[in-house]
Amino acid sequence: MDYDQILLLQRKFIDFHKVLTVILVCFNLHFALTVTGYNCFYPALAMLAILIMENVVIKMTPVRLKVLMGLKYLYVFFMVMFIVAASSVYAFGIGLLCLMLYNIEFYFTLDFSESFVRKIYVVLVSIPVLVGIIIVLIKSHSGDWMKHFEMFCIVILYIGLVWFFSEMIAQVIGENDRKLFAQTRLIERINETNEELRIQQQKVKSTNELLGVQKIELQATYEKINNVNEEMQIQNDILKYISSSLEISKLMALITESFVSRIGADFCAIVLKPGTANNKKLTYKIQDNLGNDFKEHLSECIQKNCFEEIMEQEEIIVDNDVDFRKYEFLACDSVGSILLIPLVKQEQQIGLLFVGTKRKNYFVDNIDFFEGIVAQFLIALNNANLYAEMQSMAILDGLTGIYNRRHLTKLFNEYMYESINNRTPMSVALFDIDFFKRINDTYGHLFGDLVIRTIASLAKNIADENDGIVSRYGGEEFVIIFPNKGLDEAYPAVERLHKDVKELGIEHHGKQVKVNVSIGFTSFPKTCKDPRELLNRADWSMYYSKQHGRDQITIDSDEIRKEVSLE
Ligand code: GH3
Ligand code: MG
Ligand code: MG
Repeated sequence: MDYDQILLLQRKFIDFHKVLTVILVCFNLHFALTVTGYNCFYPALAMLAILIMENVVIKMTPVRLKVLMGLKYLYVFFMVMFIVAASSVYAFGIGLLCLMLYNIEFYFTLDFSESFVRKIYVVLVSIPVLVGIIIVLIKSHSGDWMKHFEMFCIVILYIGLVWFFSEMIAQVIGENDRKLFAQTRLIERINETNEELRIQQQKVKSTNELLGVQKIELQATYEKINNVNEEMQIQNDILKYISSSLEISKLMALITESFVSRIGADFCAIVLKPGTANNKKLTYKIQDNLGNDFKEHLSECIQKNCFEEIMEQEEIIVDNDVDFRKYEFLACDSVGSILLIPLVKQEQQIGLLFVGTKRKNYFVDNIDFFEGIVAQFLIALNNANLYAEMQSMAILDGLTGIYNRRHLTKLFNEYMYESINNRTPMSVALFDIDFFKRINDTYGHLFGDLVIRTIASLAKNIADENDGIVSRYGGEEFVIIFPNKGLDEAYPAVERLHKDVKELGIEHHGKQVKVNVSIGFTSFPKTCKDPRELLNRADWSMYYSKQHGRDQITIDSDEIRKEVSLE
């Protein structure tokens, strides 16, 4: 029972006391009027006083329960006195009954589940009655033992009943307590189970959250591994390509296509300035999946040299949150990240790699990969350039830069078969500088070299103008092939060559040194019926020119052939 419940009960008990006191006062009056020598007045007065005090205490805040219980006990005491004073078995019985009823209220206030409390209670409520009995015994000198015995029996019965009730209440309380305890335990257990469930639920929730986070992390790691794999694969492909081919345009296509189709880039462009990879003009490759407009615009920008400034800066540009209005080369707002890496070879800006994607924050930890690809691309470019250099070294003459004899023979054979197969015309001129030994002897070999170079360059210009091919055939001997050109078309060019050389003055220490050439000329089908003989016939004709005063052109003919062979 809690404090509030006890207070409520106590208030009711006090109301009950009022009724009880009224009953006892009525008895008092009744006996006072009917029995002589009756004196219950003082106990009744004391009970009334206690009742008033109880009313005062119950109205105090906080209510002093112990004081209230003490007053109750005093009330019991005086009630016994009242009963004793009644000295009538009838009044005695009624008094004890009232006392018993009165005692009941103790049951609701004290903790009867404790055996100790019960014992004290029985002793305490017995004391006033026993005191009353003793007073009665002392007061009565007469030997009405029968009356004393009855009273004694009633007292024993009273004590027995008090004891019995207290035990019974203890039992009821015990039972209630047990039920209450069992219920409380059950509720506690349910609560504990609920709490455990809640904790488990919380754990499951946090484990789920953790799993969710781990799943996202795993997915990101998986994507990263996939990307790294793909990146390695691309590097591998490029390395394989570099070791198997030297075609830069195909490598550019491989790189741009790989970026767009395999690692999530949405566009990629590689730009090469003119003359950086055996290319005469600006070269570029664009791969994208952003549509034609984007590609066309980017292509225009490349042709207009929009990237010149970026290439000059030589610094990598990364923008992971692109505002397309900042860049004139971006035609749409769907680009999220861009990366621009200038291609630098031997401190020279030779081009640019430009990659972009719709995604924002794309170029973070993968920039090394793109730089690696650029490094590989530059190696490939270098290899291609070296190869081209080697190739040209194999076919070009070191002193003059025109084709050497070996390459001329190869080309001559190709044109010759073409001529034979297609019956197309073809002319050949062979010329030698006159008295060259004398030039060497007079002006030195270095000047001799200069003369060879000057005449080679002059011959090359004339050959180029006439779709011909010139080569250094020997020391100061040269051959010009005119594919697809008959005598009438090629001869004027040969005449011009002869005239230009004659008019040429090569400066040596302020003096103009003059040189002449002796030329032999032949043409299929007019002078030479078999293209296979063209070179030999040109040689004989040149020989003829030498023999007949030099500084002249000899056109091949059978007569000349005969004459030369006779000599
Ligand atoms: P000809 O009119 O009969 O041709 O008389 P030539 O003195 O020119 O005689 P020839 O053609 O036989 O002489 C070739 C000379 O050219 C021999 C060689 O010393 C010289 N010569 C060959 N190659 C070079 C070269 O690369 N540089 C120089 N300076 N001289 C060369
Ligand atoms: Mg010569
Ligand atoms: Mg010669």
